[in-house]
Amino acid sequence: MEKEWATYPHPIYIYEPWCKGCDICVVLCPEGTLEMGREKIAHVVRPETCTRCKLCELRCPDFCITVFPKKKKADAPESPS
Ligand code: SF4
Ligand code: SF4
Repeated sequence: MEKEWATYPHPIYIYEPWCKGCDICVVLCPEGTLEMGREKIAHVVRPETCTRCKLCELRCPDFCITVFPKKKKADAPESPS
């Protein structure tokens, strides 16, 4: 995901195959960005609220979560001219 994150629509990415539904990220997120789905996998439901504090990434016991750095102008996809 070297440059792919520049076009990824959310500030964080959850690798679902590794998520065991422990709820830690959902409970710890101070912004209510995440919710547990019916299938017992965490989801990003309010991406606009994420402050990129990285609590979820640091505390996920299964290393499922990546918080991307804030996009810089230089990272934005080039627009066709
Ligand atoms: S902390 Fe990790 S394993 Fe637990 S619900 Fe969140 S993403 Fe899934
Ligand atoms: S980075 Fe912080 S604000 Fe964003 S989802 Fe994770 S815990 Fe919530």
